[in-house]
Amino acid sequence: MQDDNCIFCKIANGEIPSVTLYEDADFRVIFDLNPATRGHALILPKEHYEDLTVLPEELQSKVLPLAARIGRAMKEGLGAKGFNVVQNNGEAAGQTVHHFHLHIIPRYGNPDEMVLWKPGTSTPEELNKVCAEIGARLK
Ligand code: AMP
Ligand code: ZN
Repeated sequence: MQDDNCIFCKIANGEIPSVTLYEDADFRVIFDLNPATRGHALILPKEHYEDLTVLPEELQSKVLPLAARIGRAMKEGLGAKGFNVVQNNGEAAGQTVHHFHLHIIPRYGNPDEMVLWKPGTSTPEELNKVCAEIGARLK
């Protein structure tokens, strides 16, 4: 199923041309328009799913092996020293395009490459509380 108003539906299905790194029946892998680093890629499912919570498990189980293949190829082909796999769900998490996508961001060891958060602190009491709040809803 596609969404007529979704740019990633159009790109994933070839209606809008893109430089395509990889394509199969389920996914197209393109390059981010505003790359964090050289080679920053996006894995797009061809069907429209808003985010990870509604992505079918069949596609969930395929997307991470594909990310691993791309990351390996980035290390070999681009000389990346590592790579980040980033995936935003919801505006509060920084999602700006509401069609599931996985960022693969090669890292070259430059200090201005940013995929960071500010480390906080925790206590066992707080972690037990958080664990109970989430755990009760795990299905
Ligand atoms: P997110 O913030 O996780 O929703 O990421 C959306 C990403 O899509 C951003 O990094 C944008 O730079 C990228 N983006 C938006 N439009 C396009 C486009 N037409 N082609 C390629 N990348 C895009
Ligand atoms: Zn879409």
